[in-house]
Amino acid sequence: MLKRWVDDRLPTQRTHLDVAGSGRLSRTAFDEQVAHLRGEADGAYVAEAEAAGRIDGGRAAVAAMVGLTAADVAFSEGAGVSFATLLDGWPLASGARIGTASSEYGGNALVLRDRADRRGWTLVPLEVDDLGRVTAVPDGLDLVTFPQVASQRGVAQPVAEVLACGVPLLLDVAQSLGQTPVPSGAAAYVGTSRKWLCGPRGVGFSIVPGTWQDRLEPPPTLNASAYDDVRRWDSPEAHVAGRVGFARAAQQWSPALLPVVHAAAAAARVLLQGAGGWRVVEPVEEPTGITTLLPPDGADVAATRAMLLAEGFVTSAVPATRAADLQGPVLRVSTAAWVTPEDLDRLAAALARRTA
Ligand SMILES: *Cc1c(COP(=O)(O)O)cnc(C)c1O
Repeated sequence: MLKRWVDDRLPTQRTHLDVAGSGRLSRTAFDEQVAHLRGEADGAYVAEAEAAGRIDGGRAAVAAMVGLTAADVAFSEGAGVSFATLLDGWPLASGARIGTASSEYGGNALVLRDRADRRGWTLVPLEVDDLGRVTAVPDGLDLVTFPQVASQRGVAQPVAEVLACGVPLLLDVAQSLGQTPVPSGAAAYVGTSRKWLCGPRGVGFSIVPGTWQDRLEPPPTLNASAYDDVRRWDSPEAHVAGRVGFARAAQQWSPALLPVVHAAAAAARVLLQGAGGWRVVEPVEEPTGITTLLPPDGADVAATRAMLLAEGFVTSAVPATRAADLQGPVLRVSTAAWVTPEDLDRLAAALARRTA
């Protein structure tokens, strides 16, 4: 399965170490997307109706990753859009208390602040340890929300422990789904196609079990008046070919990829520690696929990332604005299942040589 998944990736001329930013589409998903676009020549609504079964197969595949069903999945353009849509519909009165983490994704943190100001909610910072892991959930919260794995750090939150506290959890799985196991039992999940699930850009989703769907206020879109099922939350206009591609990507993904990703990250953390003076943030055995590196004194993260790109390595320079808990920019290396030990050796050598 593993070899088939890797061999089906569209070829790249580069060493792709940035699945946490965007993954590599499969040839199969690419071909189905292109076929859908061709079919739109005969009438886009006809093509969409004909693709409905395949798109619902994608809803079913992504829902199954958290123990839910196709009837629980709505599509948007990205995880951030789904996050804002759900928050706007969440049944929270003025005075509600929402637990948040300092690792919150920058865009979501802005939305939380904005909605809290407008609707009179109080944001309650959760206690965290020095790697940003939530260590306590106070009593009396109406909602808790945080990313299971942050964009800026390959550390997994103790989601099962938080769920055991019984407070409703709106879990951002944009970074974690496909990278680390995601527990079932959250009130809602929001995620994205293009990262670890290796679907196309421009597709996001929410997964909301029926019990919570019934309590949410649907968005003010025509979809909400046209449907009485989960499609109320779908973005009413969409790049449908993207949803077709995502449906294939979600069905091709397998949990068998997880141990491979984790082993590659463990190898990366050992190899990269100290290369060119960079320091690894994550514990070696953390069950994620992200390795972040703190620069040596005076090194420029964005310039180093640009130099690595010129040498053919795709990595990310994560800016300090990405999250409140970053002291400065970090270099992010993410290890999808296609990454080989030789790729990592060459990266370590390049970092040692080329730190800017
Ligand atoms: C990428 C990311 C997002 C935003 O996802 P989009 O699909 O770009 O909106 C949100 N949260 C985390 C943790 C992310 O890594």
